[in-house]
Amino acid sequence: MQKIQHYDIAIIGLGITGLSTAHHLGTNNDLRICMSSDEEAEAPSTSTLSANMITGGLIDNFTRIAQRHGPEKAQAAWAYSHHAYDAVLAFAKSHKIETKEGARIRLIETEDELTECKKAVDQLNAAGFKSRMETPPASSKVLLGQQIDEAKAAFIDHQKLLDVLKESTRRHAHIGKTLTVTRESQYFKVASEHEMIHAEVVIYANHLGVRKSIPGLAEALVSSQDQWQRMKSKNGKLPFPVGSLLTWRHGHYWAHIEAEDQICMGGARFIRPLAGFEAEQAELSDKIAKHLPEAWAKYFPDLPLSAAFESKAGLDIRPCDEIPVIGPMFGETGVFLAAGYMGQGLSLGFKAGQSLAKIVLGKSDELPRFFWPERLRSLAAVSTEE
Ligand SMILES: Cc1cc2nc3c(=O)[nH]c(=O)nc-3n(C[C@H](O)[C@H](O)[C@H](O)COP(=O)(O)OP(=O)(O)OC[C@H]3O[C@@H](n4cnc5c(N)ncnc54)[C@H](O)[C@@H]3O)c2cc1C
Repeated sequence: MQKIQHYDIAIIGLGITGLSTAHHLGTNNDLRICMSSDEEAEAPSTSTLSANMITGGLIDNFTRIAQRHGPEKAQAAWAYSHHAYDAVLAFAKSHKIETKEGARIRLIETEDELTECKKAVDQLNAAGFKSRMETPPASSKVLLGQQIDEAKAAFIDHQKLLDVLKESTRRHAHIGKTLTVTRESQYFKVASEHEMIHAEVVIYANHLGVRKSIPGLAEALVSSQDQWQRMKSKNGKLPFPVGSLLTWRHGHYWAHIEAEDQICMGGARFIRPLAGFEAEQAELSDKIAKHLPEAWAKYFPDLPLSAAFESKAGLDIRPCDEIPVIGPMFGETGVFLAAGYMGQGLSLGFKAGQSLAKIVLGKSDELPRFFWPERLRSLAAVSTEE
């Protein structure tokens, strides 16, 4: 009979979160690590669908986070996301992964937004971050201004990032899709389709799969759909630096300047019923595909875009309180998870992997305690286990 292999750590899911966790655990020590991936998954890893952008701060403006969670937590969340941005950018640079740093720009269309952005600029500067108001680009007749946050937005070759992480973690053992995880007294039994292993620690990095793996969090991790498309400017150069992330209408639209004359534009997820909340599968919507270039034309009529030459739709996770869920699972010694980055997984997922690795190794990290799953404890009681 084949001997059951015993590992220190099992990591379930090999998108940016799982790969980063394995990379950061594996660099400095001799831990025995086993990685589990669902190679025959119907949906591709969300990380492979991303739109090549990394950014600090959060997509929603600082004012909104401060209003919902208080100024101290907003400051901590912002700082963590800035650390995430810095960490992935530094990693990319040291591994010759292409990046282009731009600006983080919030375009302002209405008087309400103008009032909110002015307040956000004051709050951000008071909290130690840099933000300023500027006049709108001359090419827009509609916009009232732009809020430019600290220069933390960049293009990143996400596929190369994933490939480098895969290469650096190749030496660890791999099993297929995890079917069950059961606790024995001293370890976990992790069963895949083909084999069973034992592990002291289990790290869930399986994105929406966490809802099934940890039913107590199913209510908290809400799926939502995002869709983007690549388009070229018909009139050449766009009036924003390459690498910039534009958001407007409170994140209803986002556009990433991928090249001087190319954007990757997405969003419009609040067009009901296409928002895709609680969706099981992502679908490209013709309505959103048609709407996005029309929306751009409203703001920049002199910068028309050509037809989309590539489009992707995927499911992301919006935690019910819109704060990522990263850290040790409450009431479950030896179980850790990270999910729910709301469109910022390339940086927050990378950093989450680093944070989990440090916590497991007993090192200190910038991860705010209120990111831990324990804040969602009350939802476990109303879990929707099937
Ligand atoms: C359309 C779209 C565009 C986006 N663009 C960006 C962007 O430009 N920048 C950015 O920062 N973020 C972006 N995001 C968000 C980002 O892609 C995600 O937050 C991030 O990829 C999540 O990474 P992850 O590793 O947690 O999950 P995933 O990459 O989904 O990895 C989880 C893995 O776990 C596997 N798995 C599931 N169940 C099991 C099991 N039982 N056993 C083994 N493996 C299992 C899955 O097959 C999957 O491969 C975008 C999201 C979408 C939907």
